[in-house]
Amino acid sequence: MTKGLYLHIPFCKMKCSYCDFPSTDTWDEELLSAYVKALISDLRASLLAWDKYTIYLGGGTPSILTSALLEELLSVLKELLPDPIEFTIEANPESLTKEKLEIMVQAGVTRVSLGIQSFNDRFLAVLGRIHTGEGAREKAKTAREYFDNLSLDLIFGIPGQTPEELERDLEEALSLEPSHLSAYSLTLEAKTPLARQVEGGNLTLPREEEWLEMFHLIPEKLAERGLERYEISNFSLPGKECLHNLVYWENGEYLGIGASAVSHLEGRRLFREKDPLAYIQRVFQGISPVVDEETLSPWHKVLETAIVGLRTTRGIDPEAIEKRWDAEVSKLKTILEDLEAQGLLERVNNRWRIPERLLPVANDIMVRILEA
Ligand code: SF4
Repeated sequence: MTKGLYLHIPFCKMKCSYCDFPSTDTWDEELLSAYVKALISDLRASLLAWDKYTIYLGGGTPSILTSALLEELLSVLKELLPDPIEFTIEANPESLTKEKLEIMVQAGVTRVSLGIQSFNDRFLAVLGRIHTGEGAREKAKTAREYFDNLSLDLIFGIPGQTPEELERDLEEALSLEPSHLSAYSLTLEAKTPLARQVEGGNLTLPREEEWLEMFHLIPEKLAERGLERYEISNFSLPGKECLHNLVYWENGEYLGIGASAVSHLEGRRLFREKDPLAYIQRVFQGISPVVDEETLSPWHKVLETAIVGLRTTRGIDPEAIEKRWDAEVSKLKTILEDLEAQGLLERVNNRWRIPERLLPVANDIMVRILEA
């Protein structure tokens, strides 16, 4: 099976209003430099001998690294892991430059994922993004000159957004000819500035009917340009699915390097120190950055594989899960059959999946599996 290496850059220029990801806007160049050195040191100490692997540099905002730091990190990756089957870097429009794109190409990066979220300045302001629609358009065009394999991220269900406005965002995105598009529904995370504004009545989320219209509009529009859904929120041209994310959705093995990164290796989950400064200190002092770990029980492995697999349109095959984990799956089969009898799952060629019409309530179906 393909393995995944994830490297986390937990820094952003400014915190977006909806964000509860592990990232901070408190940093300076000295901290960035120390962090990259710690990341490299952690990577060298943790590296595993893998034949087939992907690399994903995510954040935060990886493109916030200066060109020199990006080059330093990518040259070490090229030395240690020269043959990834896919190498993705996440970038944001405000910090992506031609120079950085050039460095990425030279280092063997194969794919860029650009955080656009919307081309509409009104919604970008609501989301607290610091780029403009014009800036996003321009950087996406530039990125496309360097990478055929370009993924764009959009958010829908933004306060005040109508299906027509989402349609315009989708059309703009498609005009940039991405090979992949992620369209995430806005989630109001507790205690974020955006959640407080909605709770305080200053902003209003789209009504449920509007949200549903948007949810169904996305695959319809994207299919016009050949992008097909392969996961609830992810669409691609044939053969351009994100291989790294497929590792997660197959509950495969991955090594996470960096502050707050999580690894899944040999039936265990390892959690690295969350605070970037404390992470750097641990690495420099020769103390393991892994601060917590859990060993997954056979049932836990089966359940997790089923839950993440049901996010994909391919669905899951309990027999394959049984073989892979050498674990009993009769309980899982009973749960799946019950849900199938209730019309909440469908079985196609011995694979269970969530019917497309029920994808808007996929989370509720997964909760039922978890609670069964
Ligand atoms: S760019 Fe991404 S990680 Fe950074 S603050 Fe915004 S949403 Fe969070």
